[in-house]
Order: sequence, then C-alpha cells, then structure tokens
Amino acid sequence: MSAKKKQTPLMRQYFKIKDEHPGTILLFRVGDFYETFADDAQLISKELGITLTKRNNGGDQTPLAGFPYHALDNYLPKLVKKGHKVAVCDQTEDPEEAKKAGRKIVKREVTEITTPGVTMSEKLLDHKRNNYIASLHWEGNTVGVAFSDISTGEFALSHVHEDNLDSLLAAIQPSEILVQQKKKNKLDESLTHHNISYIEDWVYDGDYGYNLLTDHFETHSLKGFGVEELEVAHVAAGSLMHYMQATQKAYLRHLRRLYAYESNEYMSLDASTKRNLELAASIQEGGTEGTLISILDDTCTAMGGRLLRRWVMRPLKRLKPIQQRLDAVEKLYDANDIRTTLRDELEQIGDMERLISRICVGRTNARDVVQLKLSLAQIPRLKSQISSIDDPLLQDILKRLKLLIEVQERINSALQDDPPASVRDGGMIEEGFNDELDELRDVAKNGKKYIAQIKDELAQEHNIPSLKIGYNKVFGYYIEVTNTHKDKVPESFIRKQTLVNSERYITPELKEVEEKVLSAEERSKTLEYELFEELRLYVAEFAEEIQQVSQAIAELDCLQGFAEVAFRNNYAKPEVGDHEEVDIKKGRHPVVEKSLPMGEPFIPNDIKLNNEDQQILIITGPNMAGKSIILRQTGLIVLLAQIGSFVPAKSANIGLVDKIFTRVGASDNLAAGESTFLVEMNEAANILNNATPRSLILLDEVGRGTSTFDGLSIAWSLAEYLHNHAPVAAKTLFATHYHELNELEQMYDRVRNFNVQVKEHDGKVVFMRKLVAGGTDHSYGIQVADMAGLPQVVIERAKEILKNLESHSLDITNKNGEIEKEASSKKAASKNLSEKVEKQPETSQMSMFQTHVDPRIETVLNKLEATDPNRMTPIEALMLVSELKRLT
Ligand code: ADP
Repeated sequence: MSAKKKQTPLMRQYFKIKDEHPGTILLFRVGDFYETFADDAQLISKELGITLTKRNNGGDQTPLAGFPYHALDNYLPKLVKKGHKVAVCDQTEDPEEAKKAGRKIVKREVTEITTPGVTMSEKLLDHKRNNYIASLHWEGNTVGVAFSDISTGEFALSHVHEDNLDSLLAAIQPSEILVQQKKKNKLDESLTHHNISYIEDWVYDGDYGYNLLTDHFETHSLKGFGVEELEVAHVAAGSLMHYMQATQKAYLRHLRRLYAYESNEYMSLDASTKRNLELAASIQEGGTEGTLISILDDTCTAMGGRLLRRWVMRPLKRLKPIQQRLDAVEKLYDANDIRTTLRDELEQIGDMERLISRICVGRTNARDVVQLKLSLAQIPRLKSQISSIDDPLLQDILKRLKLLIEVQERINSALQDDPPASVRDGGMIEEGFNDELDELRDVAKNGKKYIAQIKDELAQEHNIPSLKIGYNKVFGYYIEVTNTHKDKVPESFIRKQTLVNSERYITPELKEVEEKVLSAEERSKTLEYELFEELRLYVAEFAEEIQQVSQAIAELDCLQGFAEVAFRNNYAKPEVGDHEEVDIKKGRHPVVEKSLPMGEPFIPNDIKLNNEDQQILIITGPNMAGKSIILRQTGLIVLLAQIGSFVPAKSANIGLVDKIFTRVGASDNLAAGESTFLVEMNEAANILNNATPRSLILLDEVGRGTSTFDGLSIAWSLAEYLHNHAPVAAKTLFATHYHELNELEQMYDRVRNFNVQVKEHDGKVVFMRKLVAGGTDHSYGIQVADMAGLPQVVIERAKEILKNLESHSLDITNKNGEIEKEASSKKAASKNLSEKVEKQPETSQMSMFQTHVDPRIETVLNKLEATDPNRMTPIEALMLVSELKRLT
C-alpha cells in the first residue's frame, strides 16, 4: 500500500487501468506517445526492439518503453502477430478541460483491444482468408462450439462430439480459441497448440449467454436462426459475444445473424490430412506456395478468395449441391467470352464484406464508403453477364445480386469521389449535399471578402465614407468611426472602445458574421464529420443486404475461378454419384504437374477403388518412384470433385466420400525417436476407429517409424483389419516399401498389388512413373542412392553388403576385416515371416506374428501353469518367486 501511495497520480491511473485488463499489453497514451511500463515495457522492448528506459515513479524507477502515437499502426500489428493482446488506452478529454475541472491528470480509457482473433485491422488481416475466433464449452462429451469472423460478420454455432472437435477446428482454423478458466490444466493435448485465451468462469453461463445474444440480435429467442436447440453452443456463443464486445468496445451491428454449422454436412478432414495433402499450407515452409489453393484460387475478389478457402476446407458430402456447383462451373467453362468479361468486372469489386463491417463498427473512413459505392456499381454489369446463362445456381445467384441503388445514390450525393483518409479534417462531403456546409465553406473561403462587403454596405447606408472594419484579439471584428462622423452612428451600433480620434463599435450582425468567419473552418470540419457519421449509420442499416450480396458475388467468383482453372489446366468435369467406387482415368497431381522442371512431362495414372474387389491397393516401388504422389493426387481429385471443381484427369467417377484420412509414416525414425512412432500409431488407431465404407484412406509408408519387423507387422495387421472388419472396409491406398505386403493379395479377396514402374538401364534406375498391376520384390535403394549422388565408395560397398544379404550369408565382413554377426538376412527373415502368417478369418482381431520363444520363458510358463495361487501359503509363493528368479 505504501508503495502505491508513493506513486505519481499518472502511474496510479496507469496501474488501475492495467489491472482491469489482465493478460493484455496496455499502450498508454501520454501526450504524443504511447507508453508502456514495468513488465509490459520489458516485453515490448524485446518484441519490437525499442529502447527500454526508466521513469521516476514517486521515488521508484519503473521500466518504460514507448513510441510516438503515429507509429501505432506499425507497432500494434507486430505485437498481435506475435500472439499478444493489445489494449489501446487513449486520452478521452482535452487537457484544458481537465485543468478547468481541477483534475491533475486527463481522463483515459481503453478504446479498443486487438487480439489475434478479434481485429478489423487491414494490417493484420489476410484478405484471402477468414480470421476466426472460436469459443468452446463442454457438457459431457458434447462440445458446444461458436465461431465468428468479426471482420466479415460471420457467426456460427455447432455441436460436435469431442472426438470430432479436431476435424471441426481444422476446418475453421481459428486464430484464437476461448476456453473457460477452469478448464486450464485440463485441456486435451490436441488443443494446446492453438492460441488459447482463458475467460473468467462466470461468463460461461447459459442464461447470461442467451440473454446477451437475444439482446444483441433484438429477438426474443434464437429460434429464427435455427440454433435454439444448440444449448451447449449458446454458452460458447454467449462467451464469444461477451469477448468481442469487450474488446471492440463498439456496437457490433454488422453481426446480423447466427447460423448452425452442421459439421456432418461436410467431408471430414482432420488436421494431419489437411497438412499432408497440402491444401492451404505447404508442409515444408508453411507458406501457400505448392499448395492446392495456390493452383485452385483464380478468384478475382477478396470475398471469393476467402470463400474458396472455406470450400476447400469444407468439401461437401451431399450430391445435390455438388452437382449444382459442377453444372455451373461447366456452363462458365463453356462460355469463354462471358467468363473473360466477368473476370474483368469482378476485378473492380472491393472487399465489400470487410468494408461494411468496418463501416458498421465505425473504424472506417470516407474512402471505404466510396469503395463500397464503386463495388455496388459493378453489380448490374455482373448481372448482365450471367443473365443469359441457363443454369439453376447461376440464376439463383443472379436473384441474390441486389442492386441497392438507394445506398449507391446516397453515397454518391454525399461524398466526393476522392476523399481524404482522415474523417476529422473535412474535404469529404460533396458540394450541394448540405446547405449549411456549403455556406460554411463559402464563408471560410471568402471570409475577408465578406467583411469587406459588410463595410461597404454600412458605409453607404450610413453615409460614412471613412468607416473601417478592423480586428483585434480582445473583441474580434469591430467598426471604427472617426469622431467627425460620430453623430451619424445608428443606435444599433454597440460602443466598445473610445480612442483619441475615433470610436469602435460592434453590431450583432457583425458578430454573427465574425462567428461564422472565424469558426467556419472548424465548424465545417465538425459538420462534415457529423454528416459522415449520419451517412455511415445510414449505410450500416443495409449491412445484412450488403453481406448477402457479398456472399453471392463470392460464390460467383469461386465458380468462375474453378472454370478458369479447369480451362487453363485442362481439367475434366467429374461424375459424382451416390455409390462406393472411385474410378479415375489418367489422373494427375494438380500441383506437381505445374512444378516439374521444364520439359519433364507429368505421367498420368489410373486408379480404381471399390468395396468389391479393389478395396485395398498395395502400392510398392522404390523410393522416389512416385507412390506418394499417386496417393495424394487421388485424395485431391476426390476432394476437388466434392467441392464442385473440375479435376486434373481425363475422367473421374467419384462415389461420395465421407472422410479422407491421410497418414505418412515418420521418415527419420532414429532421429525423431519413439514419440513420432507413437504419434503415427495414435493416428492409425484414429483411422481404424472412425473410418466407414465411404471413407478414403491414404497410408504412405505407415510403420516406417520403427524397426523393420515391427513396422512391417503393424502395416500388415492394419491392412488386414481394414479388409476384414466389416463396418470398415474403407477404400485404401497403401504405399509401402515393404514388398512383403504383396503377399496379402494372395490371402484376401479385395487386396490388389500395384507398383510404380521403374526400369533398370546400365545399372541405373529409370523412373517410369506408371502405376501397373503386380507387386515388386526389388527396392532399387542403392541405385536411387547412386542417383542422389552418394560417393561411389559408399555405393560399391552397399552393393557388396546387399549381395551378401541376398545370398543368405550369415557373416558380413566390412572393409576393416571385422566380422559382424547377423541372425539372418533380411530377405530370409521376411520369407520366414510370410510363411508363418496364416490367413485370418474375416472377423478376426489383428493378426500377430509368431515369434521365437526363449526356452526360459517356456519353463517359467510351465511352472506357473502347474501352480494354484489359491492354495499357496505366502511362504510357498515367495519360494516360487525365488525359484523363478533363479531361472532368469
Ligand atoms: P515416393 O513416394 O515413391 O518416394 P514421390 O511420390 O514422392 O516418390 O515422387 C518423387 C518425385 O517424383 C516427385 O517429387 C515428383 O517430382 C516426381 N514424380 C512423381 N510422380 C510423377 C509423375 N506421375 N510424373 C512425373 N513426375 C513425377
């Protein structure tokens, strides 16, 4: 307490506000600077590389770091990008006012808190992706999820089983997740890599949340939104609304509706599948280069770009909407001229969705509003382009493209075409829009002329040719009349000052003009701001319509983008049907085909999968043959078909897939250690538990993360399980370098062997990249190593060792002449293995390989079998343990 007492009033104010905003960096406005103190100062000095100094705080030295106020736009995004929450605390009164009121320091308030998930700043947002914040609430194993993108006004609710939470979060990729404080330390590990903000427990209350939502939407219930039943999610949505209001400190009038996000409407893609298929981020660099989106996104607007990303993350599962998109894409594909013009028109459209959000919340300027007008003006052109296309989806979009002429006209009459960025400095409002403003401007501009005019008028009226109008600071404009003409002065003149030779007067009219002249500029700036605010609120009234129009534009943009990509890259319209077959002819990998070195052609391949005789394809081939690419292209082609895009193939017949699972075995088992293998096995377990006959499973070298035999055994039993367990029977592509798995074909009806062909030429491997039926028994590892440029000595030595292994030799002599003992060669061992594995009955559990049993274990087992613990005394039991111990 005593320390507090010593604090200066400014620091007391600072710490009070700081305490009210735990977990945020407080940027505290002091004069022309934003300052931070104590821990925040240490932090920002480190994060932003700015100098740390000290400030005297009533005796103590408090660390201080700050920057000039105009650098806020530069520094704030940097802090938020690093995952911090930042509160901006501004001076909310004029220092003069504080002085007048006898206060030592000016009033300050937090005006906005920016967090990774809640921001409107263009510097923080990527125009091609949504920025979601989610809130989670658990009840039993149901998770109520609410998510919103405050920059676009989207707000959704959902219920998911906790097992499916990962997949839902993978679909929305939130930048921040809100969780109740009491869940801290109890969160599932899979969530901990997200950016989590813990929220006070009381906020997660059903009644509080429900009331907050109905108050915001001005409704009695949530029935109208179709989310009334999602009670667990109401709690999450309430906490989310609470958080967004608390951070934005503004009425979020652009959040116009809630909707139910039905995750079972969408194909399930968990986070690791999204990563492995490189849908939106590349595995290597994490950027967008080399991703599906980088090839597929040929949209012309930001809204279209964001929707495309949502479509990719949420492929559809129902036939009708898929078919509708495909048909529309086909029409736009065929209509080449229309598409080209349409693209030009779309290019002119701004980010209406984010513009209207900023307009609603008040973080906007006249330029934004003019941009909105220009974008709306494009709508008739879009309509005229698509009106002639006979297609149900395009016609539906046409209907939804409302012109909103009244908004355009109002903006047009109110705002100049090229207004300044600031809303406080005038120059925004169009001439003729407001009489008072016109007059003010006129006065400001012609002020002196006006006064001169009054002088002439008065001189003439009262016949005082020497009448003058002057100005001083004490009483502003005045009329001066020399003593000679004093008697002509009318009564309406009010005497203010008497000089030796003259008198000074004012008149009410002159004061009125003076008021106008002196304050015209100030007044006109204020009036312009008021008029702009009026206009802003008028436009905000149309938020919902503008959001709907934006959505229609985004859809049109995505569909034309698909058509354009299909046209340029020679994609084909897939047939999608309600069956369980996947039949791709001459399929290609959409990204790899674009990134091969010049002159190297991409070799297309056929893939056929079904639940009858081609359920599991074992794909073998040496390293670098092209196995992974075949797996991935199959996944991508299915996904593309189900988002309504054409596909890189000659033809494709796709039976609706409900989930795609992709697992890639750890490549560096030794370096990564056991944990990677454990992850791999956890993921495999997840597939077996969640796959259905409609699922597509892509297993790439699964089992590689452990020793050869362990890996092979696991790969083998995984394949067996997928084949034999009736409810699973999911279509599976299994790429492996364990050619022992080829034996499965003989044992099971629906397993087929394929290999990616290679040829040997002059001791070198030639990759043919062609998938052909049949297994392999050769891995060409050494040749591949040779091609990779390993030193010749190493290659020659490897060949020698291989020769030894293949001739079942038990001894391997290395170059130093030492001898290493091997129990058996790999080949011999694997032969043993497959001989020992018996075909499993269709309903069996995972098969186990017989292993070599140590005779000592056998003795122990026999001994144990011969004893009956129920009849033993403790002493006898002890003696038995000692005896067994001796055996070891
Ligand atoms: P594997 O999984 O068999 O080790 P990959 O599938 O990773 O091999 O393929 C290795 C490389 O071969 C790829 O990065 C690509 O450059 C090239 N490649 C693969 N498939 C093809 C193909 N069908 N046509 C042309 N090049 C291909």
